[in-house]
Amino acid sequence: MRPTGRMHIGHYFGVLKNWVKLQEEYDCVFGVADWHALTTSFEDTENLTKNVVEMVMDWLGVGIDPEKCILMIQSLVPEHAELHLLFSMITPVGWLERNPVLKQQLQDMGLKEAVGYGHLGYPVLMASDILIYKANKVPVGEDQVPHIEITREIARRFNSLYREVFPEPQALLTESPRILGIDGRKMSKSLQNYISLSEPSEDVRRKVMSMFTDPEKVYKNDPGHPERCNVFSFHKATENENLLAIEDDCRRGKLGCVACKKDMAERMVRFLEKISPHRDRYVGKEKLVEEILFEGSRKARLRAQATLNEARRAMRIDYGGEGFSGK
Ligand code: AMP
Repeated sequence: MRPTGRMHIGHYFGVLKNWVKLQEEYDCVFGVADWHALTTSFEDTENLTKNVVEMVMDWLGVGIDPEKCILMIQSLVPEHAELHLLFSMITPVGWLERNPVLKQQLQDMGLKEAVGYGHLGYPVLMASDILIYKANKVPVGEDQVPHIEITREIARRFNSLYREVFPEPQALLTESPRILGIDGRKMSKSLQNYISLSEPSEDVRRKVMSMFTDPEKVYKNDPGHPERCNVFSFHKATENENLLAIEDDCRRGKLGCVACKKDMAERMVRFLEKISPHRDRYVGKEKLVEEILFEGSRKARLRAQATLNEARRAMRIDYGGEGFSGK
């Protein structure tokens, strides 16, 4: 994840919830993609390190446990950059120009043609982040799926050009892989439409009450379409035990949007209240968070070095142990 500071509920229901579960079953590496943050925010780096700590505190707060997984910082494992360079040689620019994520970003940011070289190469760096650990599953939100597709293409190309080194990874999505913001667009920091994991209760209530619902349900008694309603998607994401009743009552015009939103707001407040004490344990303990990240990056680096050596040898760009004539 790019270090954008405090996480929002889109991050939680879209990804973090999955991470907490996966760390029990898989050998997981979770990374702070600080170089990726530069692709769009290279002008303003003042808060970058603060954002790293804030973000990782939220990870720890929701239950990511450094005893069970590796937490690392991309730029502390420079092998990612070298593998990115090697991958950039075998990646046609057309793959990157066709990337729908980039197209959407350019539209949102009004950038048009002024895309930076690093920004265009975002998926190549991401492929390196993934493949350097030979990961076969990547738990991301739906917006990242095209990047996983490019990662697979890069792995396939490398393996067929040189030798089988990399797996072809699959995206792992949650049941809510795309959480919408209060304005109905994808929840995102840059669109200012998010509910933060640290949102004060009054703001949660205000934001939920201002959410878009099914446009065809104007009056309380109108039959609703829960599948088109963002508030209903929040009920689903928070695993509301009354989901079936809410769905039924909405469809039959027995439940109005105001009551439904009030119920949602209180659920969300209770959910966030459960998280904050865990997160508060790390407040003022920035040093501890730093140590976790240094130690994780050290461990990650050992693995990354092994894969990079393998990639270099496969490409015959290896002048190590066996000398220039090495195999
Ligand atoms: P970002 O903050 O864009 O670097 O995203 C970090 C991770 O959170 C990525 O795996 C995204 O796919 C995921 N993510 C971000 N926003 C959302 C959202 N609104 N719904 C679901 N997943 C999201």
